[in-house]
Amino acid sequence: MLVALAATGCALMARRRSAARNAKADEVFLNETEHRFKEVFDLSCVAMAWGDMRTRRLVRVNGPYCAFTGYSERELLDMPHEELSSSEDGVAQTVLFAPPVKRGEDSFSDEKRYVRKDGAIAWGHRTITVIRENGEPRYVFAIVEDITESKRAREQIDHMAQYDALTGLFNRAIFQMRLMQAAGEAKEKPAAVLYVDLDHFKEINDTLGHAAGDALLVQIAARLRSSVSPGDIVSRFGGDEFAILQFARSQPEESADLADRILRRLSKPFELEGQTVTVGASIGIALSGEACGQPDEMLKKADIALYAAKASGRGVHRHFECEMEERLRARQQLKADLRVALAQKQFEIEFQPIVSLRDDSVSSFEALLRWRHPTKGRISPAEFIPVAEETRDIIAIGAWVVEQACLAAASWPPHVTVAVNISPRQFGDRTLPLRVAAALGKAALNPARLTLEITESVLLHDTQANLALLRDLRALGVRIALDDFGSGYSSLAYIRQFDFDKIKIDRSFISDLVESPHSLSIVRAVMGIGRSLNLAITAEGVETALQLDAIRAEGCDEAQGFLISSSLAARDVAPFLNRFAAGAAAEIRIPPALAEAAGG
Ligand code: C2E
Ligand code: CA
Ligand code: CA
Repeated sequence: MLVALAATGCALMARRRSAARNAKADEVFLNETEHRFKEVFDLSCVAMAWGDMRTRRLVRVNGPYCAFTGYSERELLDMPHEELSSSEDGVAQTVLFAPPVKRGEDSFSDEKRYVRKDGAIAWGHRTITVIRENGEPRYVFAIVEDITESKRAREQIDHMAQYDALTGLFNRAIFQMRLMQAAGEAKEKPAAVLYVDLDHFKEINDTLGHAAGDALLVQIAARLRSSVSPGDIVSRFGGDEFAILQFARSQPEESADLADRILRRLSKPFELEGQTVTVGASIGIALSGEACGQPDEMLKKADIALYAAKASGRGVHRHFECEMEERLRARQQLKADLRVALAQKQFEIEFQPIVSLRDDSVSSFEALLRWRHPTKGRISPAEFIPVAEETRDIIAIGAWVVEQACLAAASWPPHVTVAVNISPRQFGDRTLPLRVAAALGKAALNPARLTLEITESVLLHDTQANLALLRDLRALGVRIALDDFGSGYSSLAYIRQFDFDKIKIDRSFISDLVESPHSLSIVRAVMGIGRSLNLAITAEGVETALQLDAIRAEGCDEAQGFLISSSLAARDVAPFLNRFAAGAAAEIRIPPALAEAAGG
């Protein structure tokens, strides 16, 4: 309406002189219209400006236009109109005096950034009408609506659609879009995807709270940003998952350098609400080109490499290799097979004797799990137990082992005990003591005849809860042994935390006992601890008579290893005991015949 009125008004003003030559009645009418138009122009709350296309200057502006631009009317009429334009708008700045209109369509509108007098940017939606004189464009009349607020809101929404709200990094959608572009330009511009995964983030989130977790993610984002080169894309995919798209020519060197830089920076402590926390990270890398043409493929490969990085001890980076994919596939297959193995009765338990060096008798057997895979044959527990831990199948499998071991031991002579390995994951099952009690009850086995072997990793996380669980187990009357002693990080700290009944020295110390003075002093030190804390010490992995002599000389209580026997099928336990009692009682240099009889 305003536009129409303005157009009429303008046209009339422009034709003023010719109109003056017309009849008096007409002149009265014109003056009246002109007057009304002036009134609308001056009193309107909408910003309006009026420009001369020949001088390219504004000739009239109203109050709202002054308010919108921050300049006075005088300033606006004196200054070149271009000064109001933002350089970001390019051609838009000249459009006012040369609007792209065709004959018969003398009005057009656009959105434009105005640079206000105070330097701030204001967005205007302007409608420009061309006023013709004798058919030729002569004046422009602009109505400008302030749309700064809605423009900002829209920008914010656009920003939210592209960026992660917490860290301000690009989100996954944008990352994937850029990756898609990168894949198209891989020849000229090689790219690498680095998948970064934090270690122990969940624990920090759980113990310090989500606000601290968020603050940590923000700091991590800053460290990542400062590690990359200009042009690289850093993105948060959600949670503690970050990805980087690196553009660099010399691969794999440059992505390896970047990964090292990131790992170094992320390993430095973070300050969170007065607390110092450390997080590690693992990084998987896939390079464009090679087999990784497609964006999805690249992400998948970086993910597989990340998995391999985590598996090889964390705090490291790995580049994708085809074998990784095969290994992962094999592992996934193993997981699936493992899920049905218990129900399909593919597990067996073998028993490896442990000999007391006090009276050279068999004191106990360690239950060792065996998996007879229907197609792959025997699979080592060292291979499948970590998988069962990952899938938590170990909880059901472990309970089955305890039950079977108790049932077997119930048929042995009463002085012979049984040892069962309990994995750290089984401690996640708070009903473990109940399961153990049920197994003992079912077999009617004296709890003192059951030893549970745990490794110190049980005391690495959730320490208090796991210690409580250990005490509950002990309260049943079973014995607790610390397995693989010396192979972990800070074994001495752990024997202070719980009153173990027994320590098993890791076989890595026994294997080079005779040659290495270092191992000998460690074994000697462990013996000393055992004596002073009144703990029994078992040497694992005794393979030679020389090793047996050495541990005997050091005062070790028990020996276990291939020299005595490898693990036996349940039905071979009784014959072994008989043969051992008959043949080896006098001479614990285990008769070769016995070791052979034990088989593999
Ligand atoms: P571990 O608890 O340290 O068990 C002893 C391992 O050392 C057994 O390997 C045994 O066969 C092997 N071994 C015994 N004597 C010798 C020796 O003289 N020389 C050498 N080189 N090795 C010897 P295995 O049966 O392959 O078990 C490997 C690991 O798998 C076990 O280590 C244990 O951590 C785990 N495992 C086995 N059965 C179970 C189970 O039922 N539950 C859980 N959670 N873990 C189990
Ligand atoms: Ca063990
Ligand atoms: Ca062991």
